[in-house]
Amino acid sequence: MVSIKIDRLVKSFGSTPALCEINLEIKGGELFFLLGPSGCGKTTLLRCIAGFYIPDKGQILFGNEDVTKLPPHKRNTGMVFQSYALWPHMTVAQNVAFGLEERKIPRDEIRQRVYDALESVRMAQFSERKITQLSGGQQQRVALARALVIRPKCLLLDEPLSNLDAKLRLEMRTEIRKVCKDAGLTAIYVTHDQKEALSISDRMAILEGGKIAQIGTPNEIYRRPHTKTVADFIGETNFIKARFLQKDGEMWIAESEFGQLFAGYPGNPKWTPSPNESILLSIRPECWNLTDSISNSSSPPRNSLIGKVGESVYLGEVAQYRFVPNHPNGTSELKIFELNPRTVARPSSKDYLVSVSPDDVVFLPNSA
Ligand code: ATP
Repeated sequence: MVSIKIDRLVKSFGSTPALCEINLEIKGGELFFLLGPSGCGKTTLLRCIAGFYIPDKGQILFGNEDVTKLPPHKRNTGMVFQSYALWPHMTVAQNVAFGLEERKIPRDEIRQRVYDALESVRMAQFSERKITQLSGGQQQRVALARALVIRPKCLLLDEPLSNLDAKLRLEMRTEIRKVCKDAGLTAIYVTHDQKEALSISDRMAILEGGKIAQIGTPNEIYRRPHTKTVADFIGETNFIKARFLQKDGEMWIAESEFGQLFAGYPGNPKWTPSPNESILLSIRPECWNLTDSISNSSSPPRNSLIGKVGESVYLGEVAQYRFVPNHPNGTSELKIFELNPRTVARPSSKDYLVSVSPDDVVFLPNSA
């Protein structure tokens, strides 16, 4: 299980900076995801690790070995691509054996290793089939076996599931994680699909404009994003403009654009706004509680808003609402998900109260 260290990596294409001083440490055996908006540098970083690109500056270490300038075939990495990149005229077994034959491994050993690799992706029974006689999911399994058979130091996956339909993607996700964990592989996985990353990664890095915006476990990234971009990129959220007031022990207090006070916690524990600084509150749609029983006291309690339900969409396990707070100065509408809705609120002139726990309110800097 090799650890991977990326130290101050810089790569530009002409005048376009693709990676700006990237620092990253991936532990041995970790399934690590690279995520971020299109053009943020994910593929460039993966290609530098694979050896297809030589960085302008910085270092890449596999364990203690500096591989920054090694050609791809000397790094012992296994690659899995979106396009599978299999030889259509060869059988499944011949495709998987190819890398071993190039390495001049003895015939008997090749046969055993090909069988073991195909067995690990549940494809041993298809070993004599031609690639053209396989489904997309089966082809991607063969591509995975071909990467595993060389016993790579690490596995690099470049959007491996994007050519598959939604159901197969779900199945293959868990399978890829199982294969990596069974083989004890360090794996780096590039995807656009945040659900893929949330569901199977150990940790992930969110890239933004060639820089790392945040590194964390799925739970840390989802529940405590450091920036507006990270909060927006992973999952859905509502941003409410607010003015920072003060700390109350561990909890922070702000006055929202609706005039209502909100208590919550900072996304980035290293950030402290000044009093009265303009900030954002990020509150995910599923964190709100919607009710039509409102007490007669004039103002709603802290962390809640009174308003009207706009459009509603009933989806069985969840109802989705557009919620418009009753406040003349507020510019935001909120998206609210009610899980297990027993009845569905419909647009009317009736007032509803929405409230949220401080644990689900994330304070963010009001910048990009
Ligand atoms: P996507 O999600 O769209 O695949 P990405 O995050 O993988 O994007 P990269 O492909 O790494 O992004 O690209 C990072 C930046 O470098 C982009 O601005 C891109 O236009 C530029 N770039 C990438 N490859 C090249 C190249 N071969 N020549 C010139 N510019 C490139």
